[in-house]
Amino acid sequence: MGRVRATNQDDFGAGDDLFVLADGMGGHRGGEVASAEAVAGVLGSFDERTRVGLARAVDRANQAVFGRAAGDVDLFGMGTTLCALALVRSEGGDVLAVANVGDSRVYRYGQGRLTQVSDDHSLVADLVRAGDLTEEEAARHPQRNILTRALGIESALSVDTWELPVRADDRYLLCSDGLFNEIDDDRIAALLAGPNNPELTAASLVRAAVDAGGHDNVTALVVDVDAAPSAQEPWSLPDVKVEQSSEGAARAARRWEGPLEQPFLSMLARLGRRRR
Ligand code: MN
Repeated sequence: MGRVRATNQDDFGAGDDLFVLADGMGGHRGGEVASAEAVAGVLGSFDERTRVGLARAVDRANQAVFGRAAGDVDLFGMGTTLCALALVRSEGGDVLAVANVGDSRVYRYGQGRLTQVSDDHSLVADLVRAGDLTEEEAARHPQRNILTRALGIESALSVDTWELPVRADDRYLLCSDGLFNEIDDDRIAALLAGPNNPELTAASLVRAAVDAGGHDNVTALVVDVDAAPSAQEPWSLPDVKVEQSSEGAARAARRWEGPLEQPFLSMLARLGRRRR
């Protein structure tokens, strides 16, 4: 929960070689409902073990969150980030698929190096990519909560996905922004290099972020790769991620009426700008 918030709007879950994390937003109980619905949605609808199948499961989760937000005045305007990691089939054999929407993150730690796999969909991440902010400034920026993409806001959703080689002894971290806004990459890498037990490692990451301030909910999900296919490819982050537009993109986007929280107004304004 951290030191400041009165509720925990983060959620996470695991299935059969499938790991999901979400960070919800919205007034009343909206944030908690959105993240729980999104995690359950992916766990419950991942029925095709491919990269595309993972993106489709995220799309279905978006439809579930969106539908629930539209049908309940207390939940109206809720949304959530979501990131997921799964073992999937590819042409060349088993690979890891990563999916992301929003500003929760997926990192890979292997051979002593930490690599951020996912790209944040947030206002501050856009500013960092444009060279207008440093990572350190972004972590303290008053508008760091403004997302440019989230589940539950529109029927249409674009999901980033990657395929990564499976390497034995690699460690993956899925985390909410409450972790990386409190402790930097060097600290995260040092803690991931710690105990072999992923549960203890996750607990130490959360403890470090809470001790460093705990301004937000903090969630860390640590996944160890125990075994890999015999042919070991060197690990590298693919140059190109796939951005898959949802099945929902074909449906007419719903018009928003009534009051929305400021972050969502800003987010929708940005989405509107992009569409022009
Ligand atoms: Mn958060």
